[in-house]
Amino acid sequence: MISNGFLKTMSMRVEEARREIPVRDEVEVLVVGGGLGGVAAAMAGARTGARTLLLERNGFLGGTATAGMCCSVFNCFFLRGGEQGTAGIPEEVVDALAVGEGYGSKWRAHKGHIIYDTERGKLILAELVSQARADILYQAVVAGTLVEEGALKGVVVESKSGREAILAKTVIDATGDADVAARAGIPLHIQERGVHSLCFRLGKVDVDAFVDFFRRNPEQYPERMDVDWSVDEALAQFDDCGTFLFPHGGGVQLEAFQRARADGVLPGRVGIHDSVDACQMHAIRQTGIVHVITGFSRFDGLDIGKISSSMGDGRRMRWLRFSGTTFPDSGKPSSSARGPIWGCAHRAISMETSSFLQR
Ligand SMILES: Cc1cc2nc3c(=O)[nH]c(=O)nc-3n(C[C@H](O)[C@H](O)[C@H](O)COP(=O)(O)OP(=O)(O)OC[C@H]3O[C@@H](n4cnc5c(N)ncnc54)[C@H](O)[C@@H]3O)c2cc1C
Repeated sequence: MISNGFLKTMSMRVEEARREIPVRDEVEVLVVGGGLGGVAAAMAGARTGARTLLLERNGFLGGTATAGMCCSVFNCFFLRGGEQGTAGIPEEVVDALAVGEGYGSKWRAHKGHIIYDTERGKLILAELVSQARADILYQAVVAGTLVEEGALKGVVVESKSGREAILAKTVIDATGDADVAARAGIPLHIQERGVHSLCFRLGKVDVDAFVDFFRRNPEQYPERMDVDWSVDEALAQFDDCGTFLFPHGGGVQLEAFQRARADGVLPGRVGIHDSVDACQMHAIRQTGIVHVITGFSRFDGLDIGKISSSMGDGRRMRWLRFSGTTFPDSGKPSSSARGPIWGCAHRAISMETSSFLQR
């Protein structure tokens, strides 16, 4: 909870003292943000022969795609007529992720997402960047920019090593939220109400049984939501690649959630999150893991107080919807929101949460 006291402090101002800081590095290309965009930019920069540094605030690469547990890439590589529309580094990255999951180039035969395990993804993305000969600096947050006569000359980073400068001939802002541009004073269009969610993953799921539920109950599978395809195509991709997508927004269609809501076991809202909105699931046979993107809320993503509330509410909602045993708010065990979701008695041994923001 954010107390009024905290919000009050936020409106006060203090003066920060000027100080000299050490220059940590000087490179030709500096890419800030190691999400999929930054990985591609770093690979492209380093391949030109320019000394390239990829800077990331987490201890791994992938951003929303790994830290945010959004563990799939839309298959936007082919045009309606079937001819390939996108190639180059995005295709290389997707190929490497698909090889890591054991289905190699088979994704090309299907319209569905290319699904990968987030932990393996972190490793594969780092290998791609290293192979391109770009350096990586983890756990360093860009806290400021160095602008001279209207030109961006580098950034100021905060890390365990303290506050340091990194100088660069070219700076690429791949922070997803345009952090570098904002700090350099470039005018931005800010969307006041972004979409926010909290993802998690369930471990030790019998993924074949989970998918069989949709073979037996195809009406529970929402066709044509974020991809224009049918349950038969989803099942064909699973049989071929071992990966299964329950589409974005499909949660509202699941009887289990509808019943749980009608029974009052699952509230319509948990704090600022809508509890039955969204619900996209990715299943991977090989790892026995189901990733879940669950309810959404909409608020100003530049407000750290709101972000903190959203984290807490999302975590509570995840528990309400998927713990399968007790529901802390009502104290009631639920049979309605349990097994039917998976079509099997899943063993939720490990649950992890992460968040992502979209503006
Ligand atoms: C709810 C949701 C569902 C989605 N589902 C799908 C899907 O199923 N399939 C699909 O293909 N796409 C999906 N997307 C979109 C996809 O995840 C994103 O488009 C993509 O991952 C964005 O990559 P990016 O590199 O541009 O940004 P990000 O992934 O946001 O990467 C930015 C990186 O910069 C770092 N960073 C930020 N600020 C700083 C700073 N100040 N200093 C240092 N580092 C910093 C972050 O840690 C992060 O690693 C979804 C997105 C959302 C929000």
